[in-house]
Amino acid sequence: MKYLYYCKKCKSTNSTENDNSYLQCPECKVQMYATHITADEWETRTAEEKEFLKKSFETIEHPVMNPIGKALKTVGWVYIGLSVIGSFMMLTEVDVAYSALSLIFGCLGGLLLLGFAEVVNLLQDIKNK
Ligand SMILES: [Zn+2]
Repeated sequence: MKYLYYCKKCKSTNSTENDNSYLQCPECKVQMYATHITADEWETRTAEEKEFLKKSFETIEHPVMNPIGKALKTVGWVYIGLSVIGSFMMLTEVDVAYSALSLIFGCLGGLLLLGFAEVVNLLQDIKNK
């Protein structure tokens, strides 16, 4: 299914396979706005209806990236990275089993943060629609 995108600068429309993705206007080279209308639906509209819809597209804003979701994602990756580094540093001091255990738990902690970040970002996507 193709989704309709709108350029506020040249008032043109374009479509692509994904909703809520980055699409550049072929003429103005600026980011186009996701209208959440399918291209098929757009084709069934009359010329007047299209003009009316284009006016309503003028008020669309770009989707907001949730700062908390972004931060949690970064912290999750840092957590995993530090766990890997830490467990390798431990190798010279302690038994391999302890090092492996700290690696596993470190990665699990980081993955939990990444999972929570994903939930926050998905909720923001729902709010953006
Ligand atoms: Zn344009």
